[in-house]
Amino acid sequence: MTASAPRVPAGTLGREDAGKAVLVKGWVHRRRDHGDLVFIDLRDRSGLLQIVFDAEFLPEPGLLARAKELRGEFVLAVTGKVVLRDEAARNAEMPTGEIELRATALEVLNRAETPPFQIEDGVKASEDLRLKYRYLDLRRPEMTSNLVKRSDVTFRIRQVLHEEGFLEVETPILTKSTPEGARDFLVPSRVHPGEFYALPQSPQLFKQLLMVSGVERYYQIARCFRDEDLRADRQPEFTQVDLELSFPDEETVYALIEKIFAAVFPAYGIPCPARFPRMTHAEAMERFGIDRPDTRYGLELRTLDFSSSPSEILRAAETVKGIAVPGGSAFARKRLDDLEAAAKQLGASGLVWVKLQSDLPGGFNSNAKKLLDEATVAAARASLAANDGDLLLVVAGKRATVDDVLGTLRVRLAREEKLIPEGRYDFLWVTDFPLLEWHPEDRRWYAMHHPFTSPRPEDLPLLDTDPGKVHARAYDVVLNGMELGGGSIRIHQPEVQSKVFATLGIGPEEAKAKFGFLLDAFRFGAPPHGGLALGLDRMLMILTKSTSIRDVIAFPKTASGSCLMTESPGPVADAQLVELGIRRAADVVPKTP
Ligand code: ASP
Repeated sequence: MTASAPRVPAGTLGREDAGKAVLVKGWVHRRRDHGDLVFIDLRDRSGLLQIVFDAEFLPEPGLLARAKELRGEFVLAVTGKVVLRDEAARNAEMPTGEIELRATALEVLNRAETPPFQIEDGVKASEDLRLKYRYLDLRRPEMTSNLVKRSDVTFRIRQVLHEEGFLEVETPILTKSTPEGARDFLVPSRVHPGEFYALPQSPQLFKQLLMVSGVERYYQIARCFRDEDLRADRQPEFTQVDLELSFPDEETVYALIEKIFAAVFPAYGIPCPARFPRMTHAEAMERFGIDRPDTRYGLELRTLDFSSSPSEILRAAETVKGIAVPGGSAFARKRLDDLEAAAKQLGASGLVWVKLQSDLPGGFNSNAKKLLDEATVAAARASLAANDGDLLLVVAGKRATVDDVLGTLRVRLAREEKLIPEGRYDFLWVTDFPLLEWHPEDRRWYAMHHPFTSPRPEDLPLLDTDPGKVHARAYDVVLNGMELGGGSIRIHQPEVQSKVFATLGIGPEEAKAKFGFLLDAFRFGAPPHGGLALGLDRMLMILTKSTSIRDVIAFPKTASGSCLMTESPGPVADAQLVELGIRRAADVVPKTP
């Protein structure tokens, strides 16, 4: 009955199709009953189409009665003729709004219970309910559209990489721990009781080994697993566009990523320059207090000269920096107190605020008047190029804390004061990261990226004398203050790798046990190599303007790491644990029936 006309995607029909007989299949999105006229909005992946069951045109009288029985989410096959709507009934909001399908045949392919929430955009249901019934949530047009975009974006990326001669290679999911700084998810081995696989935090070591294999150009849309403390925008498993090249320098990697972005961002209305500006890590920290600066607005940090301030505390501080908030001298006391509380929460011992007000004696007001004199304020004002009416926020202390506090307040104030220009996209390479960072709590060096990052060759001697000064051949790509990806030129010489391990406190024994295979591989002609990984989920959030990372992942976990649909993680049977060698059979208490 319905097979006579070709099936077409409902959302693609338009006025040029008027007069055609077509078959559409999909779900009842909405039904409106006007007596002799029943309207159905039919939804399939391509969009919505209005179908009209009009008593006047129906070939068999029973059809109207059957149309009246349709309910939301019933699955239908409808044959009919595409007709232009009356002028007054056209709907400019709907891509198919100029036409409707005048039904001549109806087949109900399946019935549906009333769904737990309305399948429509702007859904009011709680996110937990949406996640429990994720398959229904994904029917909502905005969610369907996110899946379509995700597929389109990975296709575009694959296309560029394929054209550039990259091979897509899959690397193991059951593997050995790869140190990206997080905890591993472990998988017990049944065949080797007491032993475990780790899920990869990234394919880092395998992609490097592929370079030793002569693959030369590798990529993978790779799932990564990190057992980190969860945050709203974090998922325990996430996707990276992971890539690696042999014989590159930094310029090769930059040009490749710029090419990938050019194939993706403009297609989503985001202009993307052919070459991205660059900033060294040192400059980013100095001017923005953060290694992923948002350069769309000012409010920059400046180091201030407090060497002749009346305050001993300020004179003695490792560093004193400030920002100037335009017009901020109008801030109420409560707001200043909130800012100070935020600064303290971030580790500052205090926050000095200075309101520049020429009508006041001395020209300023401050919460720390005793620590300031006119000359110091005038110098700070000049350094920050501040004007009368502005607010200076000053923090003194350890450089890392000062940067963190002011870098965070800068972003917060830019949002609150609406200083971020709409529709502006600032791409940026951050370069010349330090190789190592010192952790005072356990008094040792950690790799800032990962231990396979190459030091700058000219800095190698510093590894022995002043490790903190060694620069890495590492880079991050940043958009509007968000890190989209990072990577480095790698170490490819076993001696350098051993030396870096040693600086990180990884002795030869431990290095052999953990990464022996890599050190072995480096002995057999490892080419110079390097690469980068892009965070695909975060990129999709930006491209789809989503506020939650969960909206761009088909089956995400909640912020506490659970899947509400499958109810994982969940308990397993004792027998399974015994089989895996995790529980002893003798410890399992048989359940009484
Ligand atoms: N494996 C690194 C990461 O996951 C990226 C890279 O260095 O290529 O951050």
